[in-house]
Amino acid sequence: MAVALRAEGIEIPGLEELVASVLFADDVAIVAESEEQLGRISEAWAERWEMLFGVKKCGIMVCEDQELRERVKGTAWHLQGQEVPIVSEYTYLGVTMQEDDGESMSVFQEKQVQRLRTLAGRLRPFLSSKSIPSLVRFRIFRSLVEPIARWGLELIGWSDLSGKLKTAYSQCVKALVGSSSKNTIYSIYCLSLELGVPLLEDLHFMARARAFYKLRSLKTFIAVLMANVGVPYRKLTWTTGVPRYLKTYPKLDLGKPWSEAKVNLGKYLLARREKEYDDRRSVTAWKQARYVNTVGFWKVAIFHSGVAKGVNWVVRARCAGIWTVKRAIEFGLVDATTVGGKCAACMVDLGETPELQHILLDCTKFEEARRVLEGVLGAIPETLPPDDRTRVLLRGSSITAVEGIRFSLGQKWSGANAEGIGEPKLPGFALLAKFCSLVWSWGGVFSE
Ligand SMILES: [Zn+2]
Repeated sequence: MAVALRAEGIEIPGLEELVASVLFADDVAIVAESEEQLGRISEAWAERWEMLFGVKKCGIMVCEDQELRERVKGTAWHLQGQEVPIVSEYTYLGVTMQEDDGESMSVFQEKQVQRLRTLAGRLRPFLSSKSIPSLVRFRIFRSLVEPIARWGLELIGWSDLSGKLKTAYSQCVKALVGSSSKNTIYSIYCLSLELGVPLLEDLHFMARARAFYKLRSLKTFIAVLMANVGVPYRKLTWTTGVPRYLKTYPKLDLGKPWSEAKVNLGKYLLARREKEYDDRRSVTAWKQARYVNTVGFWKVAIFHSGVAKGVNWVVRARCAGIWTVKRAIEFGLVDATTVGGKCAACMVDLGETPELQHILLDCTKFEEARRVLEGVLGAIPETLPPDDRTRVLLRGSSITAVEGIRFSLGQKWSGANAEGIGEPKLPGFALLAKFCSLVWSWGGVFSE
């Protein structure tokens, strides 16, 4: 087809041939410089392929040229006997384009925000379900949420990714651990490390870089355009902007294949996020406790039925994502003078003790529930300070060096290798999950 129309189409700087159409599966975008040319190309299309156009879904859009637009609007356009509407924006392959291009990307992002919000709303009951194992929910996230979030990301400028889009994506991530989208007490970065799901900004970065590497090897005119980046047409285009940005990353060899570049970029992104989120309290605490060594536990929970609910709470406890009275006071949600510094469950004055630590180790209200933890707690030396005991209980490592005890004992003490602790021989995290679900279903005081 493209050959048959070699004499028609628009001129693109850097290309020898004219471009008359852009094709994808059974979608076609015909591009023309004048109304006569548009008529000729679309007729040729229909004749050559005996194509029946779905005219209702078609639209004619005139880009930038105001005079031409007025002329086109003044004419009735027909295709195979049906009138084709004149439109000022058109969604092609899920990306909305506008007649005056300036706002296209923000319109597209706005539509993506709506898509993700709708998805988060629909999937929330599933993603946060307490009866579906975390591994299943994780897979649904990766196969449903991620592809939609990824869609068209490579088109969005380096610094143009909207905050709303990031928030809409975060809603889906937080739903994975049963946390409300309004819960802002913990960092999305911490959660992404814990759950092994990428941040939207990293998906964005990788999408743009990947497109740059891949488009060059396509057998369409895009590859030719990519090879002619020096065309003196516009100072900044996608094909000049992306490599310019990528070159600021010194370890990246643009001549290497994508498979190699991908690894280097992954390392770069990790270092960049570390720096960016370093000052967040939850991230610092997460790193200090070396939870990184035990991130896989919540997926393993699939083998231990009945702990799905509690596993969400364990993840949140590790990421500082649980609301406590102290935090509610800190955030100005509760008046300190009314509740004081007391534990909401046993009414004991907490003083300097962190509430989570008190609940896990000491709260008398949960003494009965704590019996399930006997085996685990018994394995953690009592010589460790309480905050370290808490870390180890949550499958991290102690910070304090204790003579004769190795530093990284979280896994061993909490039965990471499924060696089983106590009765009925479950890994430590499963017992902890049981305890957590007993605590956080108590009277609703702790739910959000
Ligand atoms: Zn208490």
